[in-house]
Amino acid sequence: MLLTLLMPMQVIRNVVWVADPLQKKMIPINLPQVDEQEVEAVVQVLRSGLLTHRFGNGPMVRQFEEAFAKFAGAKYAIAVNSGTAGLHMALLASEVASGDEVIVPSFTFVATAESVVLAGARPVFVDIDPETYNLDPKKVEGAVTEKTKAIMPVDLYGLPADTAAIREIAKKHGLAVVEDSAQAHGASYKGKPPGSFADMASWSLYASKNMTTGEGGVVTTNSNELAETLRSIRTHGEGLEYVSVRLGHNYRMSEIQAAVGYVQLQKLPRFAEKRRANAELLSEKLRGVEKLRLPTEPPEHQHSWYLYTVRLQGATTEKRNKVLEELRNRGVGANVYYSTPVHLMPYYRQFAKKRLPETEKAAQQVFSLPVHPAVTTSQIEHIAASTVEAL
Ligand SMILES: *Cc1c(COP(=O)(O)O)cnc(C)c1O
Repeated sequence: MLLTLLMPMQVIRNVVWVADPLQKKMIPINLPQVDEQEVEAVVQVLRSGLLTHRFGNGPMVRQFEEAFAKFAGAKYAIAVNSGTAGLHMALLASEVASGDEVIVPSFTFVATAESVVLAGARPVFVDIDPETYNLDPKKVEGAVTEKTKAIMPVDLYGLPADTAAIREIAKKHGLAVVEDSAQAHGASYKGKPPGSFADMASWSLYASKNMTTGEGGVVTTNSNELAETLRSIRTHGEGLEYVSVRLGHNYRMSEIQAAVGYVQLQKLPRFAEKRRANAELLSEKLRGVEKLRLPTEPPEHQHSWYLYTVRLQGATTEKRNKVLEELRNRGVGANVYYSTPVHLMPYYRQFAKKRLPETEKAAQQVFSLPVHPAVTTSQIEHIAASTVEAL
């Protein structure tokens, strides 16, 4: 069941690729790392009888939040039931509403833009820097209008966005910064964890992410006022018990998830180390391969290596997909993140005002290779050799 949940599915030109769970030879792009410790933690919660707390504020959730805040270098952490919930909640806490605009990249998972629409606002798509795949601050400034309320940088693939530059623009125009750090657990920027230059950061704990609770998320902030608002939104906008003072939702994390999250957080440094070692070894093996652009870490940026993403320079979608197919034939669960930029998705086209050349080109040429903590050194060698062969 757990396996089926994580089977990467990718629709490319009517070809549906689903890694076959029975085809054991496929090295998956990501895989949750759980053992008896998580099993034990879950059993304890089940035996305690307190599966969730009325305000999402039970002992396991509080323990997890305290540990996560420390890890993220933030004063407050508010645990929720998905990364998407976290993004939506952060926008609501920023008072983003109908008629407002929020600046987002299009080269991201759909949840970034989706949360803006859920808050009643309009996503304004801005192009990326082709070197980092992250929101280009130089292009952000030009997208600010009278209606702009917030900017949402995404730490794509686990590489922190240039949030200091974005912070400057936000300050100048009085905008909120909500960072989508769904993929960035363990990354750092200017020596600090992701979220440090934002008003709020939302982290995902989905099963494929660097650490997981199955489904889950966390919002971190340094503002006491925002933390209070976020806690209220998490449980139906309540101020006092059964008295709602604002519009909210049920975004509570269960005690069961928090227990898993706490164990995972203790293991995260080891996971991050293994991802980094795998990524560095893969780069060593692939360096110098013609037309293959390897992922980089600009100065002051430390990657979380959620996805090791390479680029086939000058390639068409067909050529890139052919390479992907060759890799999969060799048991390498390579995948494309993201083959359809959000502004070109059928639902989101209504918000797209212009073409985003760098985003569209990257979507045609990138693919990701497995570097998760369970990938062994000999598998990295196989992945590197297969990539050279496939090219
Ligand atoms: C995973 C992810 C999300 C959504 O998180 P969920 O926990 O799946 O809701 C949002 N943004 C990005 C960039 C992600 O990778």
